[in-house]
Amino acid sequence: MRISLLGPPGAGKGTQAARAAARFGLAHLSTGAIFREEIAKGTVLGREIEETVKAGLLVADGTVDRVVFSRIGGEGGFILDGYPRTLAQARSLDSFLDRSLPLDGAVFLDVSEEEVLKRLCGRYDCPSCGPVRAPGGACPVCGNALDRRPDDEPTVIRRRFQEYHRATGPLLSYFGDRLCTVDGNMGVEEVWSKLEEALKTWA
Ligand code: AMP
Repeated sequence: MRISLLGPPGAGKGTQAARAAARFGLAHLSTGAIFREEIAKGTVLGREIEETVKAGLLVADGTVDRVVFSRIGGEGGFILDGYPRTLAQARSLDSFLDRSLPLDGAVFLDVSEEEVLKRLCGRYDCPSCGPVRAPGGACPVCGNALDRRPDDEPTVIRRRFQEYHRATGPLLSYFGDRLCTVDGNMGVEEVWSKLEEALKTWA
């Protein structure tokens, strides 16, 4: 199965893509996670994209395409998380994959701006426990001080949401009958059960 998971920031792409990867034996490729790791390591790529990512803007298509094409593959198929995000990226991906195996389809996790704001404003990272949902301050599990992703500040969240719709709207029609939409406004378990049903049609 070769799938892309689309959706605005806060749609739950990371959580749901990790579940899908485990359930269907897929490689999970998240462009956002790759970029955050490159930034944390201070690599050439990390330094090049840092400002853009922290401001909630989109990284240049050519840069993202190169990152994805150098990592994509795997016998058991893959799930792309957060890529493609623009029409140009979708076209490059299709022509890259045409040489081997095309993308089976894309799932759009549809979430409202209100829900995104509610979710991301409460998203923090504990250096020991990982992502936690807490009102800031201390980790409810181990008491460590919590960090917040710089692009999870409320003004940046709004910009990321608007940027997402501006760039990604045309993608949805590009995928046409290869696109399946799942309502992402529900809880994690309910979204997963709908997503699992949708993915079974490609398994
Ligand atoms: P995410 O974790 O998917 O919300 O991505 C975090 C940030 O990484 C985004 O706000 C963008 O700055 C950048 N990014 C991730 N994927 C892409 C992509 N496909 N195209 C352009 N920028 C991206």
